[in-house]
This record gives sequence, structure tokens and C-alpha cells, in this order.
Amino acid sequence: MGRGDRRDGKPGGLRGCVDLHTHTTASDGELAPGALVEKAVDIGLKALAITDHDTVEGVPEAMARGREVGLEVIPGVEISVDAGSNRSFHLLGYFIDPGDPGLLSTLRDLQMARHNRNEMILGRLAGFGMPLDPRILADCQAGGLLGRPHMAQAMVRHGYVASVEEAFMRFLAKGRPAYVEKFRLGPVDAVVMVKRAGGVPVLAHPHTLNLETPLELDAFVRNLVREAGVMGIEVLYPDNSPEFEAQCRFLAGRYGLLMTGGTDFHGSTKPEVELGWGRGTLRVPYGWARALRQRAVSMHGRVRKG
Ligand code: AMP
Ligand code: ZN
Ligand code: FE
Ligand code: FE
Repeated sequence: MGRGDRRDGKPGGLRGCVDLHTHTTASDGELAPGALVEKAVDIGLKALAITDHDTVEGVPEAMARGREVGLEVIPGVEISVDAGSNRSFHLLGYFIDPGDPGLLSTLRDLQMARHNRNEMILGRLAGFGMPLDPRILADCQAGGLLGRPHMAQAMVRHGYVASVEEAFMRFLAKGRPAYVEKFRLGPVDAVVMVKRAGGVPVLAHPHTLNLETPLELDAFVRNLVREAGVMGIEVLYPDNSPEFEAQCRFLAGRYGLLMTGGTDFHGSTKPEVELGWGRGTLRVPYGWARALRQRAVSMHGRVRKG
């Protein structure tokens, strides 16, 4: 039995599987890019995409480590997009060139918006009698791009709340008192940024759109494909019910979208989600990563070597 076969009742373990949605310490993940790559090898994955929020800083280290240990590492990014009507979604970009000047310039703008928003959230927390010690916050941040999960961890360390989940539920989640909106790109600008950087734009975890009916999701996806040029949809995700997954597969077929899947692994801020496995049953086939690569090649003629 290989190391990827540790799970009972899962013949073959994660052999031939991939994880196309993960976070590192470059944003709000627990593991450094190199350590994440090693973990992926350890559990038997065949390929791994790095999709940090608003940054590609973790990509070079992950790709370098991937070359050393023989794991295919796919350069990626995840950004939050304003969809109008007080709605937002996340866009994944796969096979982007992490050195693309246009991409880096837009990401810097998003990082600045994030910084300003963070200051406002921290101000609100202080106003509620929960100032965060900069040293504790920096420790939680671990050198990455500061986000609400780091603040939630710092709140736990201060003893203001018992868990990261409680910090979100009571203060940090959308609609809670310390939540502050942030500047986001619109769908067209977000897709253009990804495509110009050589990447394939994919709608992430569509259930977070909170669209009430299958018909509404259908209309939303159709619009996103026709108006903005989104090329894929994240079909496999730890939170998806079998019904929702089937709906996403249906939409992929209907609108000619590539299918992707991943765990959104963060480590300790989302402890119930495991790399590769998600909540225990997610197995994303390597063929989906291959199809993404082929699309990137057919669009741009080349991709950076994983
Ligand atoms: P930010 O980038 O600051 O907007 O934070 C977004 C991140 O917060 C997401 O990627 C999630 O990892 C995390 N997050 C959002 N809601 C929750 C929640 N209810 N519990 C734990 N983590 C959450
Ligand atoms: Zn995150
Ligand atoms: Fe996301
Ligand atoms: Fe994510």
C-alpha cells in the first residue's frame, strides 16, 4: 500500500487525483507553498493548483518544489468579483503567468483595497472593545496577505471568541457588525485580467452565490459565459450536495464549460477540510487538469512548465 492509500474504503486512495483549489501562507492558508506541495505528494496527488486570494507570491516556490519532488504544480489565483445586485463570486484563474506585468499590477490594486478594508475592520473590532495586538496579528498572518481568517485567529488568541467560526459568525462574516465591503473588479475586468495573463477563468464554488433556484443559477452562469467569457465551473467542492454537483455538471455541459474541482484547503482556519479529500469523499480526476492545460495551450500557444 502506498502512502496515498491510507484511507479505508477508498480503493486507490488519491492516485490519479488532483486538487485544483488550495491556499498557502502567501494568503490565508496554514502551509507554506513548499510544505503544501510536499503534503500533496505525501497523500498521492498527481497535480496541485495553488490558488491564493489576490496574490501569486506563493506560486514560484510551489513550482520549484514541485519540480524537485516530481509533482505537477498549476499556477493559479483566486479573486473576488462584484456581480452587481449586492452579489459577489470568486473567480479562479488557472495557468496564469505569475510574472505577467498586467496581472501583477491589478493584483497590487486589489491588495491595496484589501489593506484599506483591513484597517477599517480592525478599527471596528477595536471599537467593540477587541483591539488586536499587532504582534499577535502578524504572527497569525505568517507573512502572507492579511485577511479576515487571520483576524479571526488573533481574536481567538486574545480570548475574545472561542473559535474562528465564532469570530466569523458574530463579527466578521458579511452582514455582521465588523464586516466591511471591499473594492472588487467586475466580471469582465476580472476575466480579462486572467486571460491576458495566459490563464483560464473559472467560476469558483457557485453555491456561494446563494441563488435560490436552479433556474436562477442557470441564468447567472449563462450571463457570465456570454458577457464575461468565463470558461469553466468548479463542479467538485467539499460543500456541494449531490444535487448541486449534478446541477453544476449539467451547466458545464449546457454552456460548454470546463469542469474543475478542489478542496479550498486552508489548513487550520478550515480544519474540517483535508487536502485532496475535502470532507472525506472528494476525488477530482486528473483528466480535468489536463483539459484545463489543453485549453490554456490552445488559447495562448504555450503555458509555463509545471
Ligand atoms: P477575506 O479575504 O478577508 O475576505 O476573507 C475571506 C476568507 O475568509 C475566505 O477565503 C475563507 O477562507 C474565510 N471565511 C469566510 N467565511 C468564513 C467562516 N464563516 N468561517 C471560517 N472562515 C471563513
Ligand atoms: Zn481563504
Ligand atoms: Fe473562494
Ligand atoms: Fe479559496
